[in-house]
Amino acid sequence: MSEGKLIVITGPSGVGKGTLVRSLLQKYPDLYFSISATTRSPREGEIHGKDYFFLSIEEFKQKIEGGEFLEWAQYASNYYGTPRQNIETQINQGKTVILEIEVIGANLIKESFPSALRIFILPPSLEELEKRLKERNTDTEAVIIKRLNRAKEELMFRDQFDVKIVNDDLEIAFELLEKAIFK
Ligand code: ADP
Ligand code: 5GP
Repeated sequence: MSEGKLIVITGPSGVGKGTLVRSLLQKYPDLYFSISATTRSPREGEIHGKDYFFLSIEEFKQKIEGGEFLEWAQYASNYYGTPRQNIETQINQGKTVILEIEVIGANLIKESFPSALRIFILPPSLEELEKRLKERNTDTEAVIIKRLNRAKEELMFRDQFDVKIVNDDLEIAFELLEKAIFK
C-alpha cells in the first residue's frame, strides 16, 4: 500500500481554517482529521476527544517530555500540540491526514515531515479578520486583541508555505483548497 499524505492547514485565528476544514471533511469523509491537544478551556459545545483533547498544563508537559507530539506551540497563553501516534498510523495505512494548526507549528512540520504539503490561509485584510473574530463571538475582547497581534506576526511567514489561499469568498477559497490537496 502506498503511503498517505500529510496536509497542514494554517493561518491566523479567525481566517476561516475551521470552516474550510469542516467542509472538506464533510465532502471527503475518507480524510483523517488529527485531533490536537490543548490546555485551553473548552468553548461552549466543544467535546473532549472530538474538537480537542483538553489537558491540564501538567498533562501537556508530560506529553512533551515523552516525545508524544509531532509539533507543539504556545499560542495566546495556552499550549497546543499534534499527537504523533495516530498520524503515523494513518499515513502508513495510506490515508490523507489533515492538520489544522497555528503558523509556528505548521512551519516546524517541514523538519519532522518534509513531504507535508503546507497551506497558508490568508484573510482579505486585517480589518476583515478582526470582524470575523468579533462576530464569531467565542473569545473575550482581550483574547481577540492577543490573536490579532499574533496574526500580524504570523502573516510575515506566509511566503514560507507551499500554497497560499485568500479566504475572501468562501466558495472560491474552498475550491482552491480542494485543488491544492487533490491535484
Ligand atoms: P479559524 O478556524 O481560522 O479560527 P473560523 O473557521 O472559526 O476561523 O472562522 C472565523 C469566523 O469567520 C466564523 O464565524 C466563520 O463563520 C467566518 N468565516 C469563515 N470564512 C469566511 C468567509 N470567507 N467570509 C466571511 N466569513 C467567514
Ligand atoms: P483555538 O483556540 O482557536 O481553537 O486555536 C488557536 C490556534 O491554535 C489556531 O490557530 C489553531 O489552528 C491552533 N492549533 C490547534 N491545534 C494545534 C496544534 O496541535 N498545534 C499547533 N501548533 N497549533 C494548533
